[in-house]
Amino acid sequence: MMPGSAQGFDVAVIGGGLHGLTAALSLARAGRSVVIIERNWIGRHASSATAAGVRTLGRDIAEVPISLESMDMWHRISRIVGDDCGFVSHGQFKVAEFDSHMPALEERQAKMRSLGYDHEQMIDAAELRRLVPSLSPHCVGALVAHKDGAADPHRTIAAFRSACERVGVTIVEGCGVEAVERAGADWLLRCGSRSFRAPAVINTAGAWAARVAALFGEVIELGVRASMMMATERLAPFLGPVVSVVGRALSFKQSDQGTLVIGGGLQGAADIDRQRSSVNFVELAKGARASSDLFPIVRGVRIARCWTGIEAQTRDHLPVIGASPEKPGLFHSFGYSGHGFQLVPVLGEIMRDLVLDQKTNRSIAAFAPTRLMQGKHAA
Ligand SMILES: Cc1cc2nc3c(=O)[nH]c(=O)nc-3n(C[C@H](O)[C@H](O)[C@H](O)COP(=O)(O)OP(=O)(O)OC[C@H]3O[C@@H](n4cnc5c(N)ncnc54)[C@H](O)[C@@H]3O)c2cc1C
Repeated sequence: MMPGSAQGFDVAVIGGGLHGLTAALSLARAGRSVVIIERNWIGRHASSATAAGVRTLGRDIAEVPISLESMDMWHRISRIVGDDCGFVSHGQFKVAEFDSHMPALEERQAKMRSLGYDHEQMIDAAELRRLVPSLSPHCVGALVAHKDGAADPHRTIAAFRSACERVGVTIVEGCGVEAVERAGADWLLRCGSRSFRAPAVINTAGAWAARVAALFGEVIELGVRASMMMATERLAPFLGPVVSVVGRALSFKQSDQGTLVIGGGLQGAADIDRQRSSVNFVELAKGARASSDLFPIVRGVRIARCWTGIEAQTRDHLPVIGASPEKPGLFHSFGYSGHGFQLVPVLGEIMRDLVLDQKTNRSIAAFAPTRLMQGKHAA
């Protein structure tokens, strides 16, 4: 197909997960014509598998400024995308089971205070019992971010998608970008018999983002993770906040339908060639054990289903956000390493700034793609 027959846009977004949607939304609102090109369907991978925890608690220091800004956006998400995305803010708690766990939490709070942050606060055993009465009485304290919470991933995808459609974003599903060429000032993206051209391209291809970068001639070191989740039968409401625990992979919450949604980063197996992942039941059992240790009320509750989701993981667990150092018009937003859901709202604004102004006033230096590139760009 000749370049002339390709559909032209100001910006092409490769990958229709939440990070593709949020970038497209902000750019379309800035008056740009935008296409999202998605190999499967919108939200197929990490964005629908996610636990959808909206967490500032325990973030890497480099992520804290954008995470706090994103949290403010979550608290007015209805005004941003026209739906509350099922977001509820009952806090996130990092629980210490034993006295030996307390110093790590206290040090974290002290570190945050020294940097001028006060959103993470220590509470003692009595306060913990008052706020989370269903927690096992052996727990001795917790670090808490009271404005944190969780959302509904499917409502979030639907809301961002609808907002994109309302502002004129073109969404093309079942269309995987397989080849890339330069066509004058544009990039030409080939997907089977279709092609698209745009001077600016955003790579939000999740676990496949390094492969997409390679189509442009960039080599980015990227790993993969396959986090596991389980959901139980419905129970009467007994828990508001999201609870994690020192030293164990657990994230535990109760949905507004009453089901328990249990994750925390336990890993299954990923097969990115086949775009599939599978549950490791031996590992998953650790999450069930931690749940019943922390919440005796759930002993004997039936697990209704479990699943995994594939996501990119960087060696420092920080995302890759920024312009390509060598390929003009190519921008990256991927590698969220298991905690990118919370960052979705602010990343729309960051990617808009990068594409339109080549810079942003947010602090993103730690996320530079060059740190994961071999050769002259490597740190
Ligand atoms: C089980 C699990 C639990 C999680 N829990 C949390 C949590 O509690 N809190 C939190 O903040 N984060 C959490 N995360 C992380 C969060 O969900 C992700 O960081 C986020 O959804 C990533 O979104 P994304 O758009 O970058 O990727 P994805 O949603 O994976 O989207 C990438 C898209 O790119 C498409 N694609 C790939 N290659 C191509 C191509 N060549 N052409 C076109 N399209 C292509 C894929 O089909 C896919 O739809 C969790 C993740 C998982 C898996």
